[in-house]
Amino acid sequence: MTHDILWNDAKGGLRSTEPSHAYSTWFEPIGSIGLSEDTLILEVPNQFFFEWIQSHHKETIEREVSKAHGGEIKIKYTVSPEGGVEDKDENPSAKWSPKQPVAKQKNKLINEKYTFASFIQGAHNQFAKAAALNVSETPGQQSFNPLVIYGGVGMGKTHLLHAIGNKIIEQSPEKKVVCASSEKFTLDFISSIQKNRTVEFSKSYRIADVLLIDDIQFFQGKEQTQEQFFHTFNELFQSGKQIVMTADRYPGEMVGLQDRLLSRFKSGLSVDIQPPDFETRVAIVMEKAEINGLKLPYDIIELIGTHIKNNVRDLESTIIRLLAHSSLSNREIDYGLAKKVIKERIGTNAISDLSIEDIIRRVSETTHIKEKEIVGASRKMEIAEARQISIYLCREILGTPLVSIGMHFGGRDHSTVLHACRVVENKTKKDQRVSALVSELKNELSFALN
Ligand code: ADP
Ligand code: MG
Repeated sequence: MTHDILWNDAKGGLRSTEPSHAYSTWFEPIGSIGLSEDTLILEVPNQFFFEWIQSHHKETIEREVSKAHGGEIKIKYTVSPEGGVEDKDENPSAKWSPKQPVAKQKNKLINEKYTFASFIQGAHNQFAKAAALNVSETPGQQSFNPLVIYGGVGMGKTHLLHAIGNKIIEQSPEKKVVCASSEKFTLDFISSIQKNRTVEFSKSYRIADVLLIDDIQFFQGKEQTQEQFFHTFNELFQSGKQIVMTADRYPGEMVGLQDRLLSRFKSGLSVDIQPPDFETRVAIVMEKAEINGLKLPYDIIELIGTHIKNNVRDLESTIIRLLAHSSLSNREIDYGLAKKVIKERIGTNAISDLSIEDIIRRVSETTHIKEKEIVGASRKMEIAEARQISIYLCREILGTPLVSIGMHFGGRDHSTVLHACRVVENKTKKDQRVSALVSELKNELSFALN
């Protein structure tokens, strides 16, 4: 019996005994890659997945595999090499990886999943992406060297850095791409001192055609490492090699780094990534859900995009949690579950029990426009304004998805709702009367939340 036949049989068993949702989430994605006398080797997509099935589905899988095998058999798991386990020098799956093409250059410090293709573009990262693409097409070009990508956590800096590496490796396999976090650079340096191998250390970084260094803020306060990095940097830079770095802030604002390093960093191009705007968050949720094999209705996608605002990593982990919850409770992902998961992430008060109707009622009382008119079709100026303000407040205070707001306001579509929000936002900046009205309502209603 081969491993795929065995695993297919076992999967058949799992499919018929486990709820279909659990099956498609936790068993379908598992692949088999080898079978020895007493052990079946299974491959899982990532570390999280592994931990999850170990704690929730271990016995079930063992049972079905043993059944298919016709007797006890051990199971070993490996994490897929594409699974994004970062900076693991000892890849446990390396010896079980018949799938890896031999010819292709492997760079184990570059995450293959982080490509330009999988990078979602929005207003917040457009410029950084363009610069990164440019550098990967023509590395070493003067004005973009060094390139520094900076911004807060979870914004996609590491993703872009690795995307540059992946693209260069793909286009020019002869180019040597060296990629490391500043921590790894530091550790390599320290251990080279301990082992009297500083020459090898220097060499291992100075052979680079493209040097990618992640999170340079961790060089802060490490004088000797900075010294080393300074020399590495100069040597590469002078011979026209491309250097790309990421940082948590603009190089000019970093403390604890030598001035001469900072002035080198600033001599090229620095681009920032801002937190994603609403539309981009929605796009990201959609894409990440799809990657995880999760079908989410649009109102849930919006709910997530509305409330999880800070960064892409949080959006991603919200989706993983949703998956986990739904599979743990054997429950389809519905609006209630999504709300629960979001509340766990951002605190209970953030999504209130105040309703859209409460808001409309309050706006009606304040503006003396009938509730019926607020949700109606009239385009009369005061009415339209009260409607727009109500819509804006639903979104600001309740974070209600655009689609649901639209439904409450006479079946308007989500772009109309978004437009209304923008109109009010602009008016609050320019129009004293509207600004006062909105902030009064906001205060009142927000107070009602507590
Ligand atoms: P940073 O290095 O800025 O802290 P990462 O690059 O590690 O952030 O990004 C965190 C997670 O979010 C990663 O899984 C990454 O793939 C994902 N991510 C960030 N930005 C994007 C984007 N624009 N498109 C797709 N995925 C993204
Ligand atoms: Mg990072």
